[in-house]
Amino acid sequence: MKILIINAGSSSLKYQFMESEGGEVFAKGLCERIGIDGRLTHKVPGREDVKSDIPMPTHSEAIQAVLDIMVDPVKGVIKSTDEIAAVGHRVLHGGMAFTESCIIDDKCIEAIKKCIPLGPLHNPANLMGIEACQKIMPKTPQVAVFDTAFHMTMPAKAYIYAIPYEYYEKDDVRRYGFHGTSHRYVSARAIDMLGNPAHSKVICCHLGNGSSLSAVVDGKCVDTTMGLGPLAGFPMGTRSGDVDATILEYLMGRYGYDIKEMLNILNKKSGVLGISGVSSDFRDLDEAAQKGNERAALALEKFIYEVKKFIGAYANAMGGVDAIVFTAGIGENSIDLRRRICEGMEYMGVKMDAEKNNTRGKEVDVSADGSKVKIFVIPTNEELMIAMDTAALCK
Ligand code: ADP
Repeated sequence: MKILIINAGSSSLKYQFMESEGGEVFAKGLCERIGIDGRLTHKVPGREDVKSDIPMPTHSEAIQAVLDIMVDPVKGVIKSTDEIAAVGHRVLHGGMAFTESCIIDDKCIEAIKKCIPLGPLHNPANLMGIEACQKIMPKTPQVAVFDTAFHMTMPAKAYIYAIPYEYYEKDDVRRYGFHGTSHRYVSARAIDMLGNPAHSKVICCHLGNGSSLSAVVDGKCVDTTMGLGPLAGFPMGTRSGDVDATILEYLMGRYGYDIKEMLNILNKKSGVLGISGVSSDFRDLDEAAQKGNERAALALEKFIYEVKKFIGAYANAMGGVDAIVFTAGIGENSIDLRRRICEGMEYMGVKMDAEKNNTRGKEVDVSADGSKVKIFVIPTNEELMIAMDTAALCK
């Protein structure tokens, strides 16, 4: 089935048009500066990228621009929008309402709206993408795929916060976790690479601009590092990861920050950028560290140390581990970081093959012969998961 995938942000919208079976990508692109002026970048494999400035006051004009270029006789890939069998939307927060993907109807939209307080930055943007598609393609079925859904199998001991229980009962405060579509895809691939055993224990390390780990037993998530929101876990590009809440009170008192300013610091100015003062990009950090920048080296060391700690915690929580998976920008591409994360874990049966690890962006088993725990590099493919869910629900 030919599926259009939409990932709508507040001022941007990514799209991909692909085949749900086999995953062939026909076209993909990005609308930027929605609500400001509007710019479209459209990519078709084997052709030169097309960039054009198109007014996009709202997401509706952005979606219209995407459809127009898709059916363009020269730049397009289809004759008519009727060839789009269904649309799959990435939605950030499904709260407790969504344990799996669902067909978008009025009830689903209401439930996504109810999750806005939990995902105040992303859910309204996701809804704008959905509403724009409904307006422009009223007959095309649409599906919502949630970042949180895969993690809803976590047991209560993993998702409950140790604060008064009434906040869970009344206000839905609990660990939700994110990058669920990526964790679902790579954990399923890892189980396949393990030979589909009846039982399996997998730790997925999604290491990108935003990063999270998940512990997956028999294909079901039992724990993950992100929490109510995507700020939790270990340090990321610009996000702090877990911090002692006392720091908030202390800094807010000292500098007179309000909670918005404080959270902006924790979301945008912290993580490896905050420690290094150099960059949130790990390639820049590598370069700076190699030139002797001590804070860049410390930022990398901190990141590696915290990932190692969570791997140890999850192996213990699951009572063992069969495979560790590296995915996303850093996990797929940073040979050195993968090596440093796995260093010193031989005691628990994790042994990397340096030669095999010399790889980027490919699905490879990089563990040494005889390593009790497999180490896999698996490029994530969230779009394929969204396309497959969408096709399955729209058959
Ligand atoms: P996002 O969370 O935005 O989807 P990605 O998964 O694309 O992010 O990851 C982006 C990050 O991947 C960049 O910050 C960059 O640091 C890192 N990255 C990409 N290529 C390399 C590389 N060759 N070596 C180290 N880090 C890399």
